Amino acid sequence: MSDWLKEVEPLTLKGQIAVPYTWWVGETGSRFLISLRDDQKILGVKCSKCGTVYVPPRKNCGRCFVDINEWVDVADEGVIEAYTIVHYSNPVQPVKAPFAYALIKLDGADVGFLHLIKDNLDKLKNGLRVKAKFKAERSGHILDIDSFQLSDAKGGK
Ligand SMILES: [Zn+2]
Repeated sequence: MSDWLKEVEPLTLKGQIAVPYTWWVGETGSRFLISLRDDQKILGVKCSKCGTVYVPPRKNCGRCFVDINEWVDVADEGVIEAYTIVHYSNPVQPVKAPFAYALIKLDGADVGFLHLIKDNLDKLKNGLRVKAKFKAERSGHILDIDSFQLSDAKGGK
């Protein structure tokens, strides 16, 4: 280190850059999102080896490492497996707080589907049934599903 640097206070400044970008979601992601946009239908894929149904769909099975080519319809409703309530808004979050991120096991799927719950946050519990609420205007985005809503605010099935 140069001598003159020993006497200089290291100073940092905060900055911020915006980096807009687009990316191709791939053939699997495209089929999934187009189904949300055009048919308000949630699609999964089923592994031919172990039978696991993944939502959102993926190209390979994470357990068997085989390609997945079988598409299946899953329900637009299911059960809350886990959730967390967000109380503070932040620009990186998809909506303003308060809302909940919830892992939802849709009927017909074997893995949790991460999405949002905006209403009845004080009533959320694992095991409660929820149903997808689609937006009227859809663009081929995961948020074409606006959020999930409690099917029965009193309890599960
Ligand atoms: Zn598998």
